[in-house]
Amino acid sequence: MPSLYGTVEMGGTKTSCAVGSTPQDLTDVLTFPTTTPGGTLARVIGYMRDQAVEAVGIASFGPVELRADHPGYGRITITPKAGWSRAEVVAPVRDALAVPVGFDTDVNGAAIGEARWGAGRDLDSFVYVTVGTGIGGGAMVGGHPIHGLGHPEMGHMSVRRHANDPFPGICSIHGECLEGLASGPAIEARFGLPGDQLTEADLGPALRLEAFYLGQMMRNLVYTLAPAKVIMGGGVASMPGLLDAVSEALEEELGGYPGLKEHGPGFVVLPGLGPLSGLAGGLALAEAARG
Ligand code: ZN
Repeated sequence: MPSLYGTVEMGGTKTSCAVGSTPQDLTDVLTFPTTTPGGTLARVIGYMRDQAVEAVGIASFGPVELRADHPGYGRITITPKAGWSRAEVVAPVRDALAVPVGFDTDVNGAAIGEARWGAGRDLDSFVYVTVGTGIGGGAMVGGHPIHGLGHPEMGHMSVRRHANDPFPGICSIHGECLEGLASGPAIEARFGLPGDQLTEADLGPALRLEAFYLGQMMRNLVYTLAPAKVIMGGGVASMPGLLDAVSEALEEELGGYPGLKEHGPGFVVLPGLGPLSGLAGGLALAEAARG
């Protein structure tokens, strides 16, 4: 029988748990609101307790401490999300279940899942980007996500403002960073409706703004990380027409430099695992933690 792992995708608004050994056999997906650290982790532990898992992998919203030799390893660090600053995530789960626990950011988790089973399978390097309630990214190189001092915070990169966009931006830290201007809540604040419910009249302008900002993000990724592809997930990424619009915006941003045809259509792709990238990554994190 294959090993049974527990996987947790802990987002800022909702948390999902499942068990399995591959994304194809994930069962009993349970999703609930992310509330307080104690309440949320109690539900995770309660869910896992009856499942006889060999290890658990947690892909968490951040920022998180990932340095294994740091006393704060396995915690959220400082976050605007009320009650979560310095919250322990790994220790309570490991102590309650007495199994190894793997841990990484939500986007690194999704990137790991895509690398193992999805659109990143045959790629030596790629970036997984999510564009939804927030914007984030995980960069994979040689099968591993980039960690360093902290972890990448790609959603907070700065972008130049569109000439016809007076929106101040909704990032609680920076206002008009990429996430502040192009996340799902930024669309909703501008147009009064979420991206998937926009009227015909608003869809065009929303797409143009999204492509303008995300095209800059792709340019920055191309010029800093040289990924073979960018995998774009999240609720906003599935807006009809967005992938093509971002591809066109990227072409304009690059201005023919460095002139690689691979940066054209097909460079930015949707996740191979659909909405399961993060939970799949949790399985891989659990497997790695078990050793
Ligand atoms: Zn920001």
